[in-house]
Amino acid sequence: MSYVDEVIAMVVEKNPAQPEFHQAVKEVLESLRIVVEANEEAYRRDALLERMVTPERQILFRVPWVDDKGQVQVNNAFRVQFNSAIGPYKGGIRLHPSVNLGIIKFLGFEQVFKNSLTGLPIGGGKGGSDFDPKGKSDREIMAFCQSFMTELCKHIGADTDVPAGDIGTGAREIGYMYGQYKRIRNVYEGVLTGKGLSYGGSLARKEATGYGLLYFTKEMLKANNMDIAGQTVAVSGSGNVAIYAAEKATEMGAKVVTVSDSTGWIYDPEGIDIDLLKEVKEVKRARLTEYAAARPSAQYHDKKAEGTNQWTVKVDIALPCATQNELLLEDAKNLVANGVKVVAEGANMPTSIEATEYFQANGVIFAPGKAANAGGVATSALEMSQNSERLHWTFEEVDEKLQGIMVNIFRNLDAAAKQYGMEGNYVAGANIAGFLKVVDAMTAQGIV
Ligand code: NDP
Repeated sequence: MSYVDEVIAMVVEKNPAQPEFHQAVKEVLESLRIVVEANEEAYRRDALLERMVTPERQILFRVPWVDDKGQVQVNNAFRVQFNSAIGPYKGGIRLHPSVNLGIIKFLGFEQVFKNSLTGLPIGGGKGGSDFDPKGKSDREIMAFCQSFMTELCKHIGADTDVPAGDIGTGAREIGYMYGQYKRIRNVYEGVLTGKGLSYGGSLARKEATGYGLLYFTKEMLKANNMDIAGQTVAVSGSGNVAIYAAEKATEMGAKVVTVSDSTGWIYDPEGIDIDLLKEVKEVKRARLTEYAAARPSAQYHDKKAEGTNQWTVKVDIALPCATQNELLLEDAKNLVANGVKVVAEGANMPTSIEATEYFQANGVIFAPGKAANAGGVATSALEMSQNSERLHWTFEEVDEKLQGIMVNIFRNLDAAAKQYGMEGNYVAGANIAGFLKVVDAMTAQGIV
């Protein structure tokens, strides 16, 4: 058995019932085969792949909190500190009922490569809880966040581990967590990113993942002699990433015709009204039915009742921006049959391995999330720099740096794919480019 196959088998055996983690490891290691085979003896001796797929530290804890009825609730929480070879652990906190250790490990593993690709000094980690923020009062959210941070604060710090937002963790949750960290640790430091502007946040952080996705996509299209202006785009999700991806795509002259949430999706042939979407999602925190109610050109589709989703619409570009495994083989077939030309992942691992392979086999230009959505974490790293300097940069300064970073990420992975004889395979290019830097740092630091 080859070294890659041995390690994949070991991961499946040692981490039972963690299918998302297995999927992420398989996807990465499969595309690293060519690099691993060229260095097999040294990597095997140093157990390099075993160390790469095993988190440095995993913290599991309970979060007790009191709801508005006086009932005590208990949630499970996790922080996986995956790899610190190139910098302090960095990665978001996901609050969603589906969260378990396997999901956090898959996200932490992906984060290692993504952070490496940004070219910035950040290692990889991820955290979260099975707490569901939906339908909770502000006081309940605060109670949860304070209890969560009471334990987490023992394990993080500005030079150790710097969490950020993710699904279910936005500015409000980061604020409550930051307040509790400061209160217990008595230090005012950049321990979290995605902070509010009045207490150390960075301009353009909120927009960064969605905008970055479009800066990356534009560069990728340029390399393939295409332009984003005039293209029709399907976006999934209607959260932080989706809203700002839709906004930037529209600004670049494309027409975004869909958004979605976990229950339904909108088809708006006139193009999504970004201001209305923000009003419904960011201000009212309401469902997409309210968008449809306020916009005559929009059609609302209930996913369960109709058995459809936004991938059935005819578009040139698909941007999955909601969650993992939301674009499966069947969806890929629909998109290809409708002539899709480009798929770029805003979410983490939204496309299943089979769907990715189908796109690649059918000539669709495909960008993996670990490269295309790295603008969020990159700007988080810029927030860390501003906190260390105790300075604030302007929106334009941050946005300009973000554009430079996304263009560089594309160029690096494009070059890596070419170097290993896989031109146009951006999945392989991203994995190889991210991996090589981490390997170099791990090797230099000895067996740790
Ligand atoms: P948000 O919580 O702001 O939005 C998530 C969106 O996805 C919502 O519209 C939500 O719908 C939908 N969604 C969540 N879970 C599911 C599900 N199981 N099925 C269908 N729809 C679902 O999260 P973000 O926009 O921050 O994150 C979206 C993705 O992007 C995630 O994969 C995240 O890891 C990734 N990402 C985020 C970054 C960031 O900076 N925020 C950075 C890099 C990656 P509903 O409201 O109905 O739950």
